[in-house]
Amino acid sequence: MSKILAVANQKGGVGKTTTAVNLAACLAVAEQPTLLVDMDPQANATSGCGIQPQDVEKEIIYHVLLGDSPAENVIRQTKISYLSLMPSHINLTGAEVEMVNMIAREQKLEGILGELRKKYAYIIVDCPPSLGLLTINALTGADSVLIPIQCEYYALEGLGKLLNTIRLIQRHLNPKLQIAGVLLTMFDARLNLSRQVATEVKSYFGNKVYKTAITRNVRLAEAPSYGQPIVLYDILSPGAQNYMSLAGEVINHG
Ligand code: ADP
Ligand code: MG
Repeated sequence: MSKILAVANQKGGVGKTTTAVNLAACLAVAEQPTLLVDMDPQANATSGCGIQPQDVEKEIIYHVLLGDSPAENVIRQTKISYLSLMPSHINLTGAEVEMVNMIAREQKLEGILGELRKKYAYIIVDCPPSLGLLTINALTGADSVLIPIQCEYYALEGLGKLLNTIRLIQRHLNPKLQIAGVLLTMFDARLNLSRQVATEVKSYFGNKVYKTAITRNVRLAEAPSYGQPIVLYDILSPGAQNYMSLAGEVINHG
């Protein structure tokens, strides 16, 4: 049974892309055929997999969303076996504008992923830091949403808006959408603040919080500049261990 997971939070810098890339890579290392879909015009998931957005400018998710290219022409194999990528490019910004007048504009990605899910055990969608049409497409096409929360000041700020968007999508576009889990990111057990945020998030989301928290680890921040997921860059780092553990939870509990 395949699973489509959107990684979403309209706040920037909370660890969405780091999570999408490294969770996808760890699922692939566990020999689960996985597709990483980059829905962010910033294309950080694309470059984080070692693919330069300028090299794929003419064949990105944008062309699939607008119906100009079949998905198969756009999907790339990455350096990791079992991990494929549907790349992005800054041009994807234009899709948000061009899609506005399209029929069923919220359901474009759903149609694409519906076809692709036969081929993969997991499809992980990295969302941009907004609740615009690209994120709405991701949430409409997904089975569930993984919400990264940074263990920082104002961690829960804006979360109400995200949860409200999820409820609206459940009501109008995708009744099967669930919250897969809430992931604590950039956790530092030595800091009171980190522990406070973790306690607050757990009291709000209860057993929806993944047991694995992603600790702050500089290797995770370095890896993208080498175009490598953490399992290639430094398999022994705490970051790699954290994301392998998260992949285990996703495989076992969804
Ligand atoms: P988002 O996609 O939500 O904007 P990113 O995944 O790009 O967030 O993360 C924001 C920044 O924080 C990036 O520079 C990334 O390398 C860094 N980062 C993410 N997670 C960690 C972590 N666990 N430890 C250290 N740095 C991290
Ligand atoms: Mg990002």
